[in-house]
Formats: sequence, structure tokens, C-alpha cells
Amino acid sequence: MKLPHRGAYPVIGLAIFLSFSAAAERITHHFPALKNPAEDVRGAIGPAALEGSQTLRMHFIDVGQGDCILIEAPNGKVLLVDCGSNTFYKGAPVDTYRQAAHSVRDYIHEALKNDAPQIETLVISHPDTDHYDLLPYVLGGSRVARVLASGPRSEHAAKTLTPAGDLNSNALAQWVKQDCGNHWTRLGSAQASAPGLDGFGKMAVVVLAANVEKEGESKNARSIVLKLSYGDFDCILEGDGEGSTERAVLASTKSADRLDCEVLKVAHHGANTRGSSGAKWLDAVSPEVAILSAGYDAMHGHPSEKAVARLAEKTLPAPPHKLRVWSNKDTHNDLEGCEEALYSTATNGTICISTDGHAYNVAFDSAPPHPWRE
Ligand SMILES: [Zn+2]
Repeated sequence: MKLPHRGAYPVIGLAIFLSFSAAAERITHHFPALKNPAEDVRGAIGPAALEGSQTLRMHFIDVGQGDCILIEAPNGKVLLVDCGSNTFYKGAPVDTYRQAAHSVRDYIHEALKNDAPQIETLVISHPDTDHYDLLPYVLGGSRVARVLASGPRSEHAAKTLTPAGDLNSNALAQWVKQDCGNHWTRLGSAQASAPGLDGFGKMAVVVLAANVEKEGESKNARSIVLKLSYGDFDCILEGDGEGSTERAVLASTKSADRLDCEVLKVAHHGANTRGSSGAKWLDAVSPEVAILSAGYDAMHGHPSEKAVARLAEKTLPAPPHKLRVWSNKDTHNDLEGCEEALYSTATNGTICISTDGHAYNVAFDSAPPHPWRE
């Protein structure tokens, strides 16, 4: 698949140019220079103008097949959206799972400069293990003021690593009880705000969707979808949303302009199933940058080249970088020179976006895949 190279797709190239022209009036963007392939993303968050206490930093952490998004609000409070990866558990020995979990924990501690970080709010987008199974281990000993979820605690009972690194099916429930008290809130289907989402100063957090299908139906479709806004910068986090999720947001949002965003954390690891990343949805959100959180040896064939092709009609041009896409669950294609602002944790590692509300910067660790994925 050559799609992200615009030269071969003149119609798509035009769409990208128009998108770029309109976007450039709103907010400035900086893409990674990629001069040093071993650059440490934690030391390269952005230009000097973006340093300081009024910076919003978003870390899309490489957890293999799964999601983990660490958000440092401009007021210093921390929002964590998901923290899980079933690749480590299903596709590797427990020791490897432990090693990988350890690296995620170290990353978060280092990013926050705290070995027992305080988390203002934890959002578990939906009750699938690739979105929560690292939580007890990664946050063991940390205080979490509030948990927002689309399901009840009892729906999150898969085996996870305890803070000591053992496998236990009750680890999450025990950790929540011990470190979160009773502050577990299950979001309803028509709830734009929730306790715990209003403590981030100038960064506004709005719930666009939650539980659009009933319990017992698709867990993915029930994903919590969030929109984060800071100044001129907007980011939508879609969990593993499906077509019904996206249609529900479109139906409940009066003006499509309100969904327009600079950055989209793409639904369901870039899947092309059950209507995820639908054309009407992408017309409305029209992301300049798309983040795919996916495993290197993705067991489900994510991200799909079809979904990536639709996203590439919206994203901005970017310096060439690697991107792995899948034509089915067994066949992948490594694009060595993707020239769209489509980044995947599978091939780009942890991706960081920082913004002062006027400009934003994208940086990533372009080092080869971690040993546990080889
Ligand atoms: Zn998932």
C-alpha cells in the first residue's frame, strides 16, 4: 500500500492541501524533525515556547496492543485515560508481560517525576483488558481521586498484574478499593460532564459519548469518548468506539464544527470493523494528526489499511516516517516513508504532543521496537 504518499493520489492530495490551508489559520503545528532517530522523546517535548507550567502534555504511551494516555494538564493535574495491553498477557510469557508493564510504570514515573504520582482522574474507556490490565501494577501505591468508567467494577475482573507483579483476577478491584476508595463513577449515555473532569484549569474536558449501547452488547461501542480543549487546541480520544458510537456523537452535537480537532486518538486501534472511523465521523472531526495505539505484531490486524486510507484524506503532510498497516489480521505492510501525520505507537513508539493552546508539537521516540515485541 502506497497511499500515504500523496504523489500517487492527487485527489487525496488536494483534500489534504485544503485541510492544511484552513488549519494553518487556526493553530501552528510542528512535526518532528527526525534528524536524530535515537532522540529521546522525553527530552524533546517541544520548542522552548512550549515549555513551562502552562503547557498541556499528552503522552500516548507504547503499550503494544492497547491504550494508555497520560495527560498533564496546564495546571499540573494529571488525567489518565486507559492503561492496558493484552498483548503482553496473551502473546508472551508472564515474565515478558511483567517486563513490559515495568517499562510503562517507569515511563509514567519519569514523565511525572514522581514514583507515587497523584492521579486526579482515571478514565477507563470500556471494560476490555487492553484498556485496564496494567493499572494495578503501574499505579500501585498511587492515589487516584476518581475513576470514571463505562461499566461497573464487576465488569473489570480479568487477570491483571498486582502491584507486586503477580497475576490475580481481583487485582484491579482490590487496587480500586484500596487506592480509590468508593470514587468509581459509571457514566450514563447522555452525560456531557462528570465529577472529576472539571479540575484541569484551562483545559476543558467534555464527555462526547458513553454507553451508547446497553450492557451485554458491544463493549467497544460503549466506549467513553472525550474531547479535550485548551485554547485553540482540541483533541478527541475515542477509546474503541464503533459506528454506533460515532453516530451517537454526531446526532447529539448540534454543529459539526464543535467536533473539529487537531488530534484524534483513532478508534479501536485503527480497526475497520463495525463502522469505526466512518467517513461522516472523519468529515466532522477532520484531524490534522491521527494517533494509532497498536501493537507491533498486532493480533487483530490493527491498524487496518482501509481505515488508515480514510484518515490520510484528513491528516496534514508530515516528514517521512515508518507506519505499519494491515490488510488483514495476518498480513502487514511496513510503509517506510509515510508522509502523513499518522503516527502509530507500534512503529513510532511513545508519541508526545505538547501545546500552549496556540501551537502544538508532535514528538516521538523513533527507536526500534522494544525487545519484548521482537
Ligand atoms: Zn482495545
